[in-house]
Amino acid sequence: MSPGRFAPIRPMRAGVLFLQGAAPEHIQSLNSAFQAMGIDGTASPVRKKKELEGLDCLIIPGGESTTISKLMRRFDLIDDVLSMAADGIPIMGTCAGCVLLSKEGDEQVSRTGTELLGLMDMQVDRNAYGRQKESFEVGLHVDGLSQPFPAVFIRAPLIKKVWGHCRPLAHHGKDIVMARQDNLLALSFHPELSNDTRIHQILISMTL
Ligand code: GLN
Repeated sequence: MSPGRFAPIRPMRAGVLFLQGAAPEHIQSLNSAFQAMGIDGTASPVRKKKELEGLDCLIIPGGESTTISKLMRRFDLIDDVLSMAADGIPIMGTCAGCVLLSKEGDEQVSRTGTELLGLMDMQVDRNAYGRQKESFEVGLHVDGLSQPFPAVFIRAPLIKKVWGHCRPLAHHGKDIVMARQDNLLALSFHPELSNDTRIHQILISMTL
């Protein structure tokens, strides 16, 4: 009998890094996604190491990537998040979170000394869309979704290139704006700002 086969069924727990930026909306989207999927689960904010323990999945939200990385260092969360990723726990980074997941940044990332988590085989251009337009919404074709996803871009980064195990899941024009590498998902846009929980459902389904 394999260990864990009769493990008690417990509610699923999702966490959202709540250090800076767009976190509350992710909690709401995750809770709606659990409901839509008929799964007993709850989402909670994560500010301390202890709150990372036992999570089934994690979101690193949008905001300001330099600030989030500094706060992650200050609250000593970096090594724990790296171990979660290595243990195969699904992690989704949106916008600033997408920047932090990547292995390579741009000139602004180096100039600001932003510490990247370096988990995904991709290079980002941190404010690629911010320079052209502050914010816009577009119906995006996402691999695995039958209908376009209403994607909100706010001072968004773009994924300049992917290599190794990282695969693009969505493009805006020629730009890669969503990618997956095993248990990791990166999005240039903010899925929590539309009334559509399908991308949060993808994250949850990665835990199953
Ligand atoms: N481009 C911003 C940064 O990397 C992220 C913007 C956002 O998360 N809305 O700091």
